[in-house]
Amino acid sequence: MSLDVNLTKELQKKRSENLYRVRVVRSREQNSYIQLGEHQYLNFCSNDYLGLSNHPEIIAAAKEGLDEYGLGSGGSALITGYTDIHRELEVALAEFTGRSSALLFSSGYAANIGVLSALAKKNDHLFMDKLCHASLIDGAKLSGAKLRRYKHLDTKNLKEMLTLIPIAEIGKEKWVISESLFSMDGDLAPLNEISKLCEKDNTTMYVDDAHGFGIYGENGAGSLSAVNLTEEQAPVMVATFGKALGVAGAFVAGSEALIESLIQNARSYIYTTALPPAQAAAILKSLRLVRTENWRREKLFNLIGEFRHKASKRGIPLYENALGPIQPIFVGDSEKAMNISQSLADKGIKVSAIRSPTVAKNSARLRVTFSASHEESQVDSLIEGLSEVLIND
Ligand SMILES: *Cc1c(COP(=O)(O)O)cnc(C)c1O
Repeated sequence: MSLDVNLTKELQKKRSENLYRVRVVRSREQNSYIQLGEHQYLNFCSNDYLGLSNHPEIIAAAKEGLDEYGLGSGGSALITGYTDIHRELEVALAEFTGRSSALLFSSGYAANIGVLSALAKKNDHLFMDKLCHASLIDGAKLSGAKLRRYKHLDTKNLKEMLTLIPIAEIGKEKWVISESLFSMDGDLAPLNEISKLCEKDNTTMYVDDAHGFGIYGENGAGSLSAVNLTEEQAPVMVATFGKALGVAGAFVAGSEALIESLIQNARSYIYTTALPPAQAAAILKSLRLVRTENWRREKLFNLIGEFRHKASKRGIPLYENALGPIQPIFVGDSEKAMNISQSLADKGIKVSAIRSPTVAKNSARLRVTFSASHEESQVDSLIEGLSEVLIND
């Protein structure tokens, strides 16, 4: 009984602070429109950047996978859950990213906590961008290593922190951990500068490319490919299939030794059921479309360019460093962000309000995301809606 009393009190507090979260029930598939309850909205809040989440060929590949392998994988990868289609996908990912090896995880969350807790030792020092994703923070905590957070994108601050700690010695590694395209701010880490610091300092570079994989680099091979960072320079690459690839799941790519160590030690890999084989088949098909259909990236970036151009003409406040599919519009106050999001919804446009604790207190924002499935006329509707609710109120 007292548990419920305490929980209810805590929930009331969240409500009063406008931090209470509710799930909205979606019916049907989502593309540039989304059906929520009775209403259909223009959808500017999904991570389906290339519009692949309902691609007929991907769905067909999943169905073939179901016919061939059944639904469940039947066990963890180390027991019976690892099939030839999982293997084929890992080989394709290694080749695509220019890495020696790749390993599938059931989610990006599982990948980050698994990799960090398996590889970072208690005496290690982790230097992490202040705005890194919760899964990276949780992985760092789980590892027991000493964690320091440097100012967002600030390589000067990172350099200062790195110099405070002596050069890595055996048993005391140093790691720099960053996202590539930041999920809530939409800006890009200076990966080449970070790599140079790491190289000088004998420090391992760990990049979570969840939002860059499929979007940047040669044929969408990711942010590391875009800036030509090799496996030697950026030894740990994590990316997910739930964003641009339109499916779900994740992988880590790197050296044979790295991948073998994860198979031996990453608890979120070992003690969990392997991805359904049909999911691996769907991802494999999605990967082929990502690699061969450059028009999706071109269309996406044209839409983003149109949006930024028209929005700035209309006085909609943009973030100058966000040049990719994630366009934050900073509001500050949580309640205000929620109200703006609601006003847009009343106009049939869905844009999510992002609040604490996902982002820092008082940095609530609208997070507008674009997809290759959008049309220019839909971007125009968004601009109209935004200028009405942001400027004319
Ligand atoms: C989405 C995301 C994850 C988590 O990936 P899931 O597959 O959804 O668990 C990890 N890191 C970053 C940067 C992300 O944006």
